[in-house]
Amino acid sequence: MKQKDCTPVSSPRQDNYVGRFAPSPSGPLHFGSLVAAVASYCDARAHNGRWLVRMEDIDQPRCMPGADRIIINTLKRFGFIFDEPVLYQSYAERQRAYTRALERLQSQNRLFYCTCTRKQIKPFPLYPGTCRQQRQPPNGEYAIRIQVPHEVFGLKDRIQGPYQQNLATDCGDFIVFRKNGYFAYQLAVVVDDAEQGVTDIVRGIDILDSTPRQLFLQRQLGLTTPRYAHIPVVVDANGHKLSKQTFAKDISREDPHTLIRFALSALGQQTPPRHTSLSALWQWAIDHWDIQRIRGAVVKQDALNASSPL
Ligand code: GLU
Ligand code: ZN
Repeated sequence: MKQKDCTPVSSPRQDNYVGRFAPSPSGPLHFGSLVAAVASYCDARAHNGRWLVRMEDIDQPRCMPGADRIIINTLKRFGFIFDEPVLYQSYAERQRAYTRALERLQSQNRLFYCTCTRKQIKPFPLYPGTCRQQRQPPNGEYAIRIQVPHEVFGLKDRIQGPYQQNLATDCGDFIVFRKNGYFAYQLAVVVDDAEQGVTDIVRGIDILDSTPRQLFLQRQLGLTTPRYAHIPVVVDANGHKLSKQTFAKDISREDPHTLIRFALSALGQQTPPRHTSLSALWQWAIDHWDIQRIRGAVVKQDALNASSPL
């Protein structure tokens, strides 16, 4: 009997790549999030990787009812293919996982109960450590903070290069459980990325300064640190982040071809030829994906080699 040939066919194959797009359902998909989705999708597919969507609805009061469905439908209409069912942070099983993580941090004697008001903290550049000795839950409302070490946490970002923070002097003790009863994004994101086996995070540069906190939490929780790539933000000719009217505009009814081309342009990629089908456009984008072409922290909208459809 002829033996099955098991040699891998294409050289850039990286079987263990798992990427993700993690929108917050605070509103419909807008162009800024589309750019992040396109970047994480193309990078995953160019590595023959898997691509997951996670609905970051941890901050329930900020969620817009129905926005999750709108986002999912828009992504599907734009031709994104999901490799797994969408994971919601609000699922009971996720909440249990966050609780276990919090208990583990608790056992390391780093957590404390903070009853400070916004007004009390505001005059200080960083949290001044006021409640550090409060190790038992007080009466009334409180947030739970983690005491950070005087230690540098750094990464080599695939786009932004080296980035680091000394958590004690650049960040301060941060919140892992909020006064309003919800887990903090910083905690949920590391627990979820680890649980979903995410190896590569491609997301907006606005979250770069959160990454050292996430590296710290990963270490404390014994989780693997993924690779990171933080994509630049699109700004107008005056250097301002695109306004609500443009950047944050609902794109669910816009033409997918036009917006995907514009997103690729914002990501410094080559301009694709006009394709007849969305799947052909995606294939072209994936085949020509080159993350090295993405540079810097900002992309000027008027410098894009495609006219703005927004
Ligand atoms: N949910 C976050 C956002 O929509 C993204 C978080 C992440 O990618 O780590 O801004
Ligand atoms: Zn406090």
